[in-house]
Amino acid sequence: MKNLLIASALALVALAACAPAATPAPTATPKPTEVPKPTQAPPIATAVPPTVAPTATKVPPTPTPVPPTATAVPKVAKPLNLSASTVFVRDALVNVTQGIQGITINGIVPLGADPHEYEPTPKDVKAVSDSQAVFINGAGFEEEWLGKLIKNAGGSRPIVDLSEGVKLNKIDAQFQSEFDNDPHYWQDPERWQQAVNNAAKGVVALVSASDPSIAEAVKKNAEAYIAKIKETDAMIKTEVAKIPADKRVLVTTHDAFGYYAQRYGFKVVGTVIPGPSTASGAATPRNIKALVDTIKPLGVKAIFIEEGVNPKLTEAVAKEAGIGVIEKLYLDTLSDDKGPAATYLDMLKHNTMTVVGALK
Ligand SMILES: [Zn+2]
Repeated sequence: MKNLLIASALALVALAACAPAATPAPTATPKPTEVPKPTQAPPIATAVPPTVAPTATKVPPTPTPVPPTATAVPKVAKPLNLSASTVFVRDALVNVTQGIQGITINGIVPLGADPHEYEPTPKDVKAVSDSQAVFINGAGFEEEWLGKLIKNAGGSRPIVDLSEGVKLNKIDAQFQSEFDNDPHYWQDPERWQQAVNNAAKGVVALVSASDPSIAEAVKKNAEAYIAKIKETDAMIKTEVAKIPADKRVLVTTHDAFGYYAQRYGFKVVGTVIPGPSTASGAATPRNIKALVDTIKPLGVKAIFIEEGVNPKLTEAVAKEAGIGVIEKLYLDTLSDDKGPAATYLDMLKHNTMTVVGALK
């Protein structure tokens, strides 16, 4: 403090020394000095602020844009090709790898197709053989066609099973020759959070050794996306609360809505195609009559058809049971970008609004 005061005092003395020195000289010749003085003073006055101003404005903007660009667009050291069995697995991978360059995600079952009865193409074989790993829904969902696809793609590929650690529901004993567990767990957003975490872990395992920054970006993406899933889950609870408890009954085309029903307090009173696979087939006239007999006395208000599954049988059941409202749900697939269920979260919202709209 003292030193500062001394320094300031010295500066003042120096200024004072300069000033009188400058003044006496002009005083001798008043007119010419008056002219140079103003001209000299303004340049200094204007020169100082501009130099200060640009530096002040330049400094903050420069550092701000640079770090976001650096963290928002991380790039994998080596290009990474990932195969995703279903549209939902693909959606999870897209979300956890968002903003990272050099990762290609190849979806196997195309949009709108029925994953229960998928026939892999030669293009799938090529894509899988070019992939560092195949991410699957698991729970037996791809059992019908995945083994053959991997065999054709070279024999063995690293598999990341998104159902690992997910609590699955056993299915009705009569269908256990096809599945032991109900594979449609993506319809429960709480269970799907585990799947998203598994997808993120699978990607991290592929990149972490070579690039820890990518692993960090994947973890952050997964956290942000899971927060969105939780928000959607809360929104669904609020919406479903608008349906009186005794009206929360569902009839769907195939049994793919069990986890959703369980989470939000619905009862699936019947399905047009019996069982958890669209390939279960046996929608016999007898089954249909039994279904109609079941749902008629319950006063079921709506019956749901499914994107990707032929609606004819479901329409027949609705007609037979005298139910006028037929609404479309996305259970095993998503819509294209222009449709109402282009992403997993959009699908949850669309299905909820459809069900609530029909039953409340
Ligand atoms: Zn299904």
